[in-house]
Amino acid sequence: MGKVYIVGAGPGDPELLTLKALKVIKKADVILYDRLINPEILLHAKPGCELVYVGKEDGKHILEQDKINFLLYEFARNNDVVVRLKGGDPFVFGRGGEEALFLKEKGIPFEIVPGVTSAISVPMYAGVPVTHRGVASSFVIVTGHGSKGQFPDINWKSLAGIDTVIFLMGIANRQKIAENLIKAGRSPETPVIFIEKGTTKEQKEIQSTLGEVAQGKIKVHPPAIFLVGEVVRLREKINWFEESLGEVQV
Ligand code: SAH
Repeated sequence: MGKVYIVGAGPGDPELLTLKALKVIKKADVILYDRLINPEILLHAKPGCELVYVGKEDGKHILEQDKINFLLYEFARNNDVVVRLKGGDPFVFGRGGEEALFLKEKGIPFEIVPGVTSAISVPMYAGVPVTHRGVASSFVIVTGHGSKGQFPDINWKSLAGIDTVIFLMGIANRQKIAENLIKAGRSPETPVIFIEKGTTKEQKEIQSTLGEVAQGKIKVHPPAIFLVGEVVRLREKINWFEESLGEVQV
């Protein structure tokens, strides 16, 4: 029986991979990867490594989670090093916990490698810190999409009291999300930002207000982060990535 590594690949920029992630990707006999994985990362795989796409297309799983679990089991039986590569961090809306529970139940050895989550790094690449002294002392990461595709069941009152609210998978429901936050007491003047394809050369930022989003005025394409809060105003001064034309100089 081999070992399964549940690995976070970071938000998009292939250099945001951890050294540990790179090490296991180079050793892998098989890599099962998701849709949001930058293909450049897969170039680190050794010759002969089997690359298996198990992502979602149009919100629909190509492979249901139990089929992915079955593949993990089969590959682990026949290989030494199996990597399950996920976008961002595996434990932030990544189903990493479900896969870990499955592996535990089957007695398959596993390790988990954290990744840079898009929830924090993508706003950072748009010049938006999720906390800032005197502006925001709390932030929360929320799904904008229910597990069965329905509108998520969220305690809007408690959410409205947190300074920075970050929605993942929140693009399709953005109008309803904004309406609910306003109803729960958040000002329609609150600045918001959508960041599409963050940390990549195609990154696009759309700044607006909660009120405008609630009116259905804002066009956005997924994958994108939807962030609500006064910290958005800092972008004007901190917007380093756009100014560097998407090239991080090292
Ligand atoms: N585990 C991942 C999140 C998976 S949920 C993480 O930690 O980042 C998928 C959602 O993440 C997308 O719907 C989108 O809201 C967000 N996302 C992931 N990568 C992104 C990127 N490069 N730019 C903008 N949003 C991104």
